[in-house]
Amino acid sequence: MYKINKIDDFQYVTFPLLEEYEELFHCFTTRKGGVSSGNFATMNLGFKTGDSKENVEANYNIMAEKLNIKIENIVQTKQTHTNNILYVTEKDKGRAMTTSPYTDIDGIYTDRKDIALMSFHADCSAVFFYDSVKKFIGLAHAGWRGTVENIVGVMIKAFVQMGSNPANIKAAIGPSLGQCCFEVDEDVAHIFLETNSSYENFMVKKGKKYHFDLWEINKYNMVKEGMNEENIEVSGLCTKCHNHLFFSHRGQKGKRGLMAGIIMMKN
Ligand SMILES: [Zn+2]
Repeated sequence: MYKINKIDDFQYVTFPLLEEYEELFHCFTTRKGGVSSGNFATMNLGFKTGDSKENVEANYNIMAEKLNIKIENIVQTKQTHTNNILYVTEKDKGRAMTTSPYTDIDGIYTDRKDIALMSFHADCSAVFFYDSVKKFIGLAHAGWRGTVENIVGVMIKAFVQMGSNPANIKAAIGPSLGQCCFEVDEDVAHIFLETNSSYENFMVKKGKKYHFDLWEINKYNMVKEGMNEENIEVSGLCTKCHNHLFFSHRGQKGKRGLMAGIIMMKN
C-alpha cells in the first residue's frame, strides 16, 4: 500500500502503516516538482548523476521547503550496495549536499529526534524501519546485492541490540524494481541461490532469464528476524513500470536522476 501526496507540483509517497504515528515523518520522493530536465526531470537529488549542481541544489531547497525539513538535519552516506549499517547522532548532521564522509554504508539508524535519515534510489528499495515503543528509526538502501546480503536482517539485529522487540518494529518497502522487471542472467541467479537456497521460492524463470521478487525476499528476511508480516508494508510500485513518476536505472539505461527516502522523528 502507498499514498501519493501532492504539494503543488511536488509529489511524494508515504505509507499508511507509518502514517499513523504523528511523531514520525517519512517520505519517498518522486520525479515530480523539481527544476531538472531531460533524463533528470525533474526532482533529481543526486549530485553525481551528470545533472548540473545548480539544479540539484535548487531541488534540495524545494524539497526541504515543501516537506518542512531542514537540510542541516539530514544525514546521508555514500551507498555502495553493501550490508553495512551505521548508528548516527547529531554529530553526523549538516553534511547534506557535500561529499559524505561515510562510504560503504547502506543503512543508517538512530534513536535521536530531529535527525533526517536520507537514502538515494533509482530502482533499489528504500526500506523504512520504526520501533514505536523504543523510538528507533532506520533506513536501508536495498538493491539486489543488499537484499541478497540481508541488510534488513542486519538492521533488525542492530535494533534488537539497542533493546527492540522485533514484534514492535514496523517497516515499509518503497517504490523499486518489481519482480516484473528485475530480470537477471544465470550468473546473478546463482549468487542468490548460493547465498540462501530459500530464495528459490521467490524466483520464476522466463526463458533464459530469472526474475526474483526482491520485495518478498526482504519481507522473508524480516519475518525470519522476528517481525510480524502484518507490520511490513510493500508499496508494490515498480519504478520501471512507472517511469513517468519514478527514476529507473533500468528503465532509463543508467541515465537517470536519484530519488530519496527520508525518515525522521519530530521533536
Ligand atoms: Zn515492473
